[in-house]
Amino acid sequence: MSEYKFIDHTYDVVVVGAGGSGLRAALGAAQAGLRTACISKVFPTRSHTVAAQGGIAASLGNMSPDDWRWHMYDTVKGSDWLGDQDSIEYLCKNAPAAVYELEHWGMPFSRTEQGEIYQRPFGGMMQNMGQGPEAQRTCAAADRTGHAMLHTLYGQALKNDTEFFIEYVALDLIMDEDGACRGVTAWKLDDGTLHRFSAQKTILATGGYGRAFFSCTSAHTCTGDGNAMVLRAGLPLQDMEFVQFHPTGIYGAGCLITEGSRGEGGYLTNSEGERFMERYAPSAKDLASRDVVSRAMTLEIREGRGVGPEKDHIYLHLEHLPPETLASRLPGISETARIFAGVDVTKEPIPVLPTVHYNMGGIPTNFHGEVLTKKDGDPDSVVPGLMAVGEAACVSVHGANRLGSNSLIDLVVFGRAAGLRCGDTVEAGASQPRITDQMTASHLARFDRLRNASGDQNVADLRLEMQKAMQNNCAVFRTGEVLDEGVGAIADLYKKLPSLNVEDRTMIWNTDLLEALEFDNLIGQAAVTVNSAANRKESRGAHAREDFADRDDKEWMKHTLAWVGATGEVTIDYRPVHEYTMSNEIEYIKPKQRVY
Ligand SMILES: Cc1cc2nc3c(=O)[nH]c(=O)nc-3n(C[C@H](O)[C@H](O)[C@H](O)COP(=O)(O)OP(=O)(O)OC[C@H]3O[C@@H](n4cnc5c(N)ncnc54)[C@H](O)[C@@H]3O)c2cc1C
Repeated sequence: MSEYKFIDHTYDVVVVGAGGSGLRAALGAAQAGLRTACISKVFPTRSHTVAAQGGIAASLGNMSPDDWRWHMYDTVKGSDWLGDQDSIEYLCKNAPAAVYELEHWGMPFSRTEQGEIYQRPFGGMMQNMGQGPEAQRTCAAADRTGHAMLHTLYGQALKNDTEFFIEYVALDLIMDEDGACRGVTAWKLDDGTLHRFSAQKTILATGGYGRAFFSCTSAHTCTGDGNAMVLRAGLPLQDMEFVQFHPTGIYGAGCLITEGSRGEGGYLTNSEGERFMERYAPSAKDLASRDVVSRAMTLEIREGRGVGPEKDHIYLHLEHLPPETLASRLPGISETARIFAGVDVTKEPIPVLPTVHYNMGGIPTNFHGEVLTKKDGDPDSVVPGLMAVGEAACVSVHGANRLGSNSLIDLVVFGRAAGLRCGDTVEAGASQPRITDQMTASHLARFDRLRNASGDQNVADLRLEMQKAMQNNCAVFRTGEVLDEGVGAIADLYKKLPSLNVEDRTMIWNTDLLEALEFDNLIGQAAVTVNSAANRKESRGAHAREDFADRDDKEWMKHTLAWVGATGEVTIDYRPVHEYTMSNEIEYIKPKQRVY
């Protein structure tokens, strides 16, 4: 390994990821007077957050009566009672201030006649502790909310002197012998140099891992690199069996058509022209939560009422909406539908299909963003030096199913919380023990092994095999048999990893190697996802088992923790769900049957 030399850097805080959560955390740490670096494998404003469409939830009450407690009730119900209620209280209570902060930083929200922030209805968002009517809670900048938000945050991060390391690919966490995180290593794409960042706190904000599946709405960069780094550090991921399928990905292309389109009055029909959601969710109808709508669509298709020549998808209608509404509130998806489905939304319906969209599972944390593991019997043991925020983290506010527009608010509320926590716990400029070569030896060994991989299987083929196995065997509906087949398929893929081939051996902009590193990250997450799903013998939120159709609170009201070994073997344990709130401003919301 002597051919590899590290360039060393020292910061108080290092954030990996420059999406909404990473930028908010980084600028918060910088505001607290800490020297903060933000590393990103893509230019910050190309992070997947830029693609968020529908909006960001907060109980501002601009367009219907609202209360953070109602938002909390809906989030708990949406999570199918798997969310930690202390964290959910923190989220919903702090949401309005987080949105006003964005507004004051110049985020260009759509406006009401009175000049207030425009808010639209979204799935599962109700008034009066779930009683209804629907709440208009989702703040939007047309259907390009993530774009507006990410650019606003990037500007603020620059203003607050965050130092950016752009097109640096983080490789692994630097862990010391006491199990504390001491920083991260990275590979700089444009000159091929290797870097070692020493930090008092390392914050992972690396986003989701949608690309473990064949059809997903997320960017090609969404490979869950931070999750995989945590697994390689011998730490667990939490609730990975819960994968959200968005009801309306464009058939074939997978691009997202926002739920905001149904919020603005769009609806779904089957081959008989029937608005079938009225049968499945009599009160919320097309605005029931995502797992419910995705299952209803899948059942309609299975029962022969799909549309198109192969009867294998569903129609989303917007053509009855006034053209002005489409132009002002949904311009982005009108364009997407034209380009990717060849459809003029003012005249014809859009062909849609449930598509992988969001990962509820991730790195377990508390509501300060501190990473947790189970150690010496303590299920909430903090891993020193390591934090996580955003889609990579599992706080857990989304539990078994996330409500639409609750991710963007999660990014800024917990990004802010992580920045505040750094301010409270980190001493600016405090001296840090030296990083030893021994601490980073395994990082180089992995990098070098993949760089020189000379088998007969190319990365794209193995990746496709994994994506198809996950799509077919870890889908909207699951059975023990199908999941076990998926467990077997991923185990077989692990056996093929030693025969991986990487053609390009250079260090500069080697995308062949980059894809190999990303695939190597994905496969570990695929293993924990399908094994956790096979293990959970109940139906809850997005995890719908046909062989265990009911939620089983007695046995399964608990978080899954999953570790993976070098050859893909998965170990499972559990953490209790926090069945308490953060303050006495609201009581614990007791489990009920979840109907919409
Ligand atoms: C199409 C689409 C529409 C959506 N619409 C909405 C919506 O309307 N409302 C809502 O609430 N949610 C929405 N979501 C979900 C939400 O947008 C995401 O969950 C959220 O943006 C994730 O943000 P993040 O900060 O966690 O990560 P991301 O925005 O995914 O950013 C990840 C960052 O990590 C960096 N990174 C990753 N790996 C590495 C590495 N190895 N080294 C260095 N850097 C790395 C990347 O460069 C990037 O900067 C949508 C999602 C999609 C896909």
